[in-house]
Amino acid sequence: MHSLQVIDSPVAIPGIASDARHSDRGPIGPQDAQSAQVERTVQLNFALAAQQLRLGADQQQLLRTPFREMKVAIPIPMDDGSIKVFAGYRIQHSGARGPAKGGIRFHPDVSSGEIQALAELMTWKTALVGVPFGGAKGGITCNPSQMSRAELERLTRKYISRIHRFIGPFRDIPAPDVNTNAEIMAWILDEFSSRQGYSPACVTSKPVELGGLRGRSTATGRGVGLVLAEHMKGRGRSLKGLRIAIQGFGNVGSNAARFLEQRGAEIVAVSDVRGGILNVDGAPLPVRVLTEHMRRTGSVIDFPGTLPIDNEELLALPCDVLIPAALESALHEGNAGDVRASVIVEGANLPTTAAADRILRRKGIDVVPDLLANAGGVIASYFEWTQNLQQKQWTLREVNRQLRTSLARAYRTVAKVAGEREISLREAAWLIAVDRVARAETLRGSMTADRLRA
Ligand code: NAD
Repeated sequence: MHSLQVIDSPVAIPGIASDARHSDRGPIGPQDAQSAQVERTVQLNFALAAQQLRLGADQQQLLRTPFREMKVAIPIPMDDGSIKVFAGYRIQHSGARGPAKGGIRFHPDVSSGEIQALAELMTWKTALVGVPFGGAKGGITCNPSQMSRAELERLTRKYISRIHRFIGPFRDIPAPDVNTNAEIMAWILDEFSSRQGYSPACVTSKPVELGGLRGRSTATGRGVGLVLAEHMKGRGRSLKGLRIAIQGFGNVGSNAARFLEQRGAEIVAVSDVRGGILNVDGAPLPVRVLTEHMRRTGSVIDFPGTLPIDNEELLALPCDVLIPAALESALHEGNAGDVRASVIVEGANLPTTAAADRILRRKGIDVVPDLLANAGGVIASYFEWTQNLQQKQWTLREVNRQLRTSLARAYRTVAKVAGEREISLREAAWLIAVDRVARAETLRGSMTADRLRA
């Protein structure tokens, strides 16, 4: 008989001190503390927007309550012959503006509360950038760094077999997030299509050979760079010569670094879950060679000719721009006061707690919020979905051009509202997004019609 093991406790993550695992004090906590933190960040941002829009308590409840929450048991055989049961989640927050849309995350800290907060964030993000989707998020509580490729494939396929009736091109369309990639999206496509018929539009960020979009895998990081360029333009500067530190060198962080380096910015420090590196003698980090080193060794650490730093040191470096591109709550009340960058561009989702946000504002640091800064991914996913529905293939040039247009338009809308109302970019982004979803709910008849007259 094989043993049966239920995975429900967080696994220690190298490089994260255990005393950084409480309330507003650290980047990654036990599931409960971490999810309570991100839920609070979302709730406070929503509350500010709701107040400005004069939404009643019932309207707020309608807008915030998830449409559908799924938790599934995922039993799979492991390579050693044992059976493990993993917890999988898919939460569809809203479908008011279109099918739900959002990534799938594989991580030891995945919990229902975290996924719910991230699903809700997707509702506001898709509304802000005007793509016809709602918000969703999924995840599996697992440690992919300790699993084989075959185990990950079995895990992905079993997860999809559990939820396939509730996802699909016009219900809910998954995409990658932390520790998931195009290969995993290909397994999702295959598993879903084997049950429901060939459906390339059921998932985005697939390999190009399976109907994926050219440029989708780099779109989120590229979008971070494009939004920063818009922001600097408003301040009479270009990207050239900006000194930039990036926390997280995965899909978002590494692609942002590449885009920014190509436009003359200097990447001075980067980090990942194992630690960070700092340039020496003012020479910027060579991003292409660093990416090769990371692919070869699995980390940015020990890159020749650099100084080792830890993640907290990176966040406090004197530089022009800081890009948190790892996980939630990286900037919290315990370290926000140490930030010395003059601009923060949120590549990650919810990397700044509400308390940290207040501190950064008092310090006069511009924060370009996640809803806008990392929306390049979901915009490109929308291009991929339309490409699949129309059986077309976009060129890379067309994708990048449309991405730039969409993000520049969204940035200008947010900056205009922020300027007119004398509020932060984050408050403006939430205000626009919540208003758009409230209007959609009103038009559907779920909310009272006086919303439309406001
Ligand atoms: P990824 O798995 O490709 O990379 C994550 C990176 O963060 C890795 O370098 C990892 O080592 C690092 N990291 C993890 N824990 C860390 C810690 N405690 N300290 C420092 N570094 C740590 O994931 P990704 O797709 O790049 O996503 C990063 C963030 O961007 C997440 O918040 C995700 O939700 C958000 N995001 C991703 C996309 C996308 O298209 N992939 C779109 C929008 C937002």
